[in-house]
Amino acid sequence: MNANNRPTSSAASLSCEFFPPRTEAGVEKLLLTQKKLDQTFQPEYYSVTFGAGGTTRDSTLEVVKLLAKKNINVAPHISCIGSSKQQITDLLDQYKVLGVSRLVTLRGDIPETGESTRELSHANELVSFIRESSGDHFTIEVAAYPEYHPESESPQSDFEHFKNKVAAGADGAITQYFYNIDAYLRFIDNCHKADISIPVTPGIMPITNFASLTRFSDACGAEIPRWIRKQLEAYADDKESLQAFGLDVVSRLCNQLLEQGAPGLHFYTLNQADNTNAIWKNLSL
Ligand code: FAD
Repeated sequence: MNANNRPTSSAASLSCEFFPPRTEAGVEKLLLTQKKLDQTFQPEYYSVTFGAGGTTRDSTLEVVKLLAKKNINVAPHISCIGSSKQQITDLLDQYKVLGVSRLVTLRGDIPETGESTRELSHANELVSFIRESSGDHFTIEVAAYPEYHPESESPQSDFEHFKNKVAAGADGAITQYFYNIDAYLRFIDNCHKADISIPVTPGIMPITNFASLTRFSDACGAEIPRWIRKQLEAYADDKESLQAFGLDVVSRLCNQLLEQGAPGLHFYTLNQADNTNAIWKNLSL
């Protein structure tokens, strides 16, 4: 244990996130990525995202099948926006047959059309639904937002909604990515004050491309601190320097998080192995 009475990092749980590729070539590349990650640090599990409004329901299932058949520990994301209760039940049944025992359970992004099935409106309702239908079969991870969810009415209400997900039966949480460690530490302090003891694993986004990072951060409400943004801007087309700087920033963040007692790290790999492996090699585990 460290000074803050948080567990030390010796048993840090490391996991990686993939998205379902659109092409056969993408699937082949994903399998290669998984192999490279496994050869470097053997993540505890690989999660597979679920497109906004259930748009990748079939391709998520296909990737999960592929990985499960290779005896790889896989955790599908599942969201309630855009899926009926029956579709969710059918998917859960297929996951049970495949031996899946962990889910990342979300409301899901609203599809660009804005239209979607909403038999269950929020993630806490989906967690309750899964607990009612499947008992303790699944370890359930939910999303957490140290810098607050972009649609939330207030920081307080956002945290209340997080508490509802825990009360509904979540076993753990994975955060939206952030580059400001204080936001995460404050979130953990708030959990302690609210007697929430589930592990809250930081989501880690490697920095490799300024334009796409900015676009994505604007959409999901993650802040890129000014000193990082300015430096990335200054590198402009100097990709090599930008990536070296990004690797240094994110590796330091990961080491600080583990030193401060984070229970593990969840890497948003964007289906690439090299960036995540480079960060892992810089960790003082
Ligand atoms: P919720 O917990 O339901 O919260 C959504 C918003 O509603 C918040 O603002 C919350 O404060 C508010 N809220 C919650 N309950 C209530 C209530 N009862 N009344 C009023 N307001 C309420 N998206 C995808 O589409 N597919 C994925 O695979 C995916 N994977 C993700 C993985 C991680 C680790 C994270 C952090 C996010 C992921 N997302 C994914 C994005 C996520 O779906 C979006 O951020 C989505 O907008 C919110 O999902 P949630 O599960 O946090 O929703």
